[in-house]
This record gives sequence, C-alpha cells and structure tokens, in this order.
Amino acid sequence: MRKKDFSSFLAQVGSLSAQQKAQLAEILVLSEAKQAPAQLIDEEFSGKATCPACASESVHKWGVVSGLQRYRCKECKRTFNALTGTPMARLRKKELWEDYSQTLSESLSLTKAAARCGIDRTTAFRWRHRFLPLPGPQAVRCSGITEMDETYFRESFKG
Ligand SMILES: [Zn+2]
Repeated sequence: MRKKDFSSFLAQVGSLSAQQKAQLAEILVLSEAKQAPAQLIDEEFSGKATCPACASESVHKWGVVSGLQRYRCKECKRTFNALTGTPMARLRKKELWEDYSQTLSESLSLTKAAARCGIDRTTAFRWRHRFLPLPGPQAVRCSGITEMDETYFRESFKG
C-alpha cells in the first residue's frame, strides 16, 4: 500500500465502531500468526521458558501437546506452552475447535478428526467428551433451579 493511502487508511481507523476495531484486530493477529508459525515461537521460547502464572524460571518439560512443547512450573505446578497467555493461544484454540466441531457434525472417526485438526488422538477423545454433553438451555435452567432449592433449604435450616 502506498504511504499516502496508508495514512488515509489509518485516519479512518479512528471512526470504526468497537466491533469493527475488534474485527480488524483479529485479522491483524491472524496474519501475524500465519507469518510466525507456532513452532518458531516454540523454539525461541525453549531455553528461556518462564511460568506465565507466577513468573518462575524453575520449570521443566512436560510432554508435547499439538506439536508444542509443554512445560510445568515447579513452583505453582501449572502447565503451559510458549503460546499460553498470548492472543495466539486463544486464536489457535478457537481455530482448532471450529475445525473440530466441524468433524463432529460430519461424524468423522476419532482418528480422522485428530488428523484433520493436527491434534493427537487422546486430545480428540477428550474434546469429544467435552463437546458431546454440552447442555442445552433446558439443562441449564434445570440445574439453576436445583441450586436455588438447595440454597433455600440450607438457609431455612439455619434459622
Ligand atoms: Zn508458576
């Protein structure tokens, strides 16, 4: 884009709605994600890995998930990878989940679904169980009433 066009483009950014800005931000993050594959970030991260939760440098390797090295913090015991806490982590997961829900609607086998999303079969299995029991509005309403009843009884016994 020419410099002059870019200046007028930037001038227009200010008049975007909040939703339009969010859309633009997502496009920018997406293009950045494509330029810097997760594996590159993964390599750069190894050697200076620090816990995103407590900033401890006392971490050790903890298996590989979806092609990314996973680490475990010796202080707070949390696990993380190079993308944890970055916009890319959310984006990558969102993309994967969209792919994955697509494989569910196509009734693909676990092996095929895992291959399609580039995840291992164990992850595919876990995700299937997270997706399938998704409660509909009806189920949510029922559990809400149950909780209210319990609270009511607990409080009435107190007095
Ligand atoms: Zn930690």
